[in-house]
Amino acid sequence: MFKKILIANRGEIAVRIIRACRELGIQTVAVYSSVDRASLYVKLAHEAYLLGGPQPKESYLNMEKIIEIAKSSGAQAIHPGYGFLAENPRFVKLCEKNRIKFIGPDSLTMEMVGNKLLARRIVEEAGVPVIPGSKEPIKNNKEARDLARRLGLPVIIKAVYGGGGRGLRRVNRLKELSFLLKVARLEARVSFDDPSLYIEKYIRNPKHIEVQILADERGRMVHLGERDCTIQRRYQKLLEETPSPVVDEGLRNKLGEAAIKAARAVGYTNAGTVEFILDERKNFYFIEINARIQVEHSVTERVTGIDLVKTQIRLADGEKLHLKQKDVSIVGCAMECRINVEDPLNDFAPSPGTIGNLRFPGGLGVRVDSSIYSGYTIPLYYDTLIAKLTVWGKDRKEVIGRMGAALNEFIIEGVKTTIPLHKAILCEKDFQRGRISLSFIERHKLLKRLKASSQTSEKIAVITGCLLAYQERKKTPLKKKRENLWKRGFTESKWQTRLRKI
Ligand code: ADP
Ligand code: ADP
Ligand code: MG
Repeated sequence: MFKKILIANRGEIAVRIIRACRELGIQTVAVYSSVDRASLYVKLAHEAYLLGGPQPKESYLNMEKIIEIAKSSGAQAIHPGYGFLAENPRFVKLCEKNRIKFIGPDSLTMEMVGNKLLARRIVEEAGVPVIPGSKEPIKNNKEARDLARRLGLPVIIKAVYGGGGRGLRRVNRLKELSFLLKVARLEARVSFDDPSLYIEKYIRNPKHIEVQILADERGRMVHLGERDCTIQRRYQKLLEETPSPVVDEGLRNKLGEAAIKAARAVGYTNAGTVEFILDERKNFYFIEINARIQVEHSVTERVTGIDLVKTQIRLADGEKLHLKQKDVSIVGCAMECRINVEDPLNDFAPSPGTIGNLRFPGGLGVRVDSSIYSGYTIPLYYDTLIAKLTVWGKDRKEVIGRMGAALNEFIIEGVKTTIPLHKAILCEKDFQRGRISLSFIERHKLLKRLKASSQTSEKIAVITGCLLAYQERKKTPLKKKRENLWKRGFTESKWQTRLRKI
């Protein structure tokens, strides 16, 4: 077994990986940027080394520096987490060249799945349904227009090397196409260093269903059921659950088989996720393979009892996959809420800052993965995800109740978070009945209603404040009261007027 592993990531996922390593008796090496010096994962690791400045290019994307630290510290393997270098074939190659084990698939597989268009083609040839769309990257506007006409509107523009919901643009009318292509191309160039785009038919009211797979280096593969990640904003996941409320045993088996077929077609090893879109008639289509641990892996861990990060490490070490498909059993239901430092009332604008009072929820079936602590300042250079709340229950109803209670217990002061939005989602009857689709948040006007209720609670706060102050003054002896009032320039009638206005 590996003796020492370097974690080429930060935040909650670095903490998660360190915990798995500690359980396995493996030493950990953390790397950090200058603004992450005080991070929890840096404190938890056995060793920690500075990478450079706060910009990802200077730090978490600095491949040479990371390899150099791995070699000098004697780390035998690198766990990349998610994001940053996790799906970068050049980095995997560099690890291979330096005889450091990359915890994930090999560079060839990474190249195949990193190019989403190529992956689509390979998977389609293997007999898995894909969404109708481009065969090659888009060459010019005319070609895109012809394809969009043939597919029928709406269509969706995607970046060939895309990820994290960036570079995606839905096109409703042909006259918007050339402008949206320009925008998507620019975004793809900036985010992925490559402007290549492709087009798919846009599936109306879809559901995002993905399948977790595990594969060893001898060709054994199993799937661990699905995760429903339909609740999204801007094509980014917000709340995930397993099992999906719309997937029955028969569909689960079909999805699982399709996922394994897709993974085999690209020679997949280690833990990975095959993503599908489910249409209104429950037809499913492959969209991409994520060749890494995913943010929402915790829900699968909870219902299967399998520690995915420890399994990743063991598989990378060449261990055989002992698990057989018939041994995989799913017990109860699990749901995850992503707690991001974002203001849902201000177009999800990032809201970094210093954490004040902090209280994590707890109790039966409640898990919090986080790297924040009271007094910690969240840097503005990285992802806004600061905590994941995963809840288990015997059925979906119990999970929803338990998640609501846990969210109410969660206190994070000093920053704005997605907690109020999660509470609003859970309260929706349609959500409780499992009637969800990609546009759930817009369709139920959740942001508008959240804004209205936040204005009402502001009013209530002012009224309560006024009443408390008024009461307080009544308790004070008359002479003192007059003095105080005089000092503060308030008169009885002023309070009355203020209350009436509200
Ligand atoms: P990324 O690589 O950024 O994760 P994906 O291709 O996985 O991009 O798509 C992101 C999200 O966009 C999906 O989770 C899904 O909800 C939505 N989406 C993707 N393709 C389609 C499609 N053809 N029709 C409708 N929605 C789609
Ligand atoms: P998951 O499917 O694991 O939920 P997300 O799409 O939410 O993944 O992405 C997780 C993190 O990885 C986010 O920080 C996202 O910005 C980042 N990410 C995902 N794909 C890429 C990519 N191809 N390039 C850069 N960052 C990515
Ligand atoms: Mg995706």
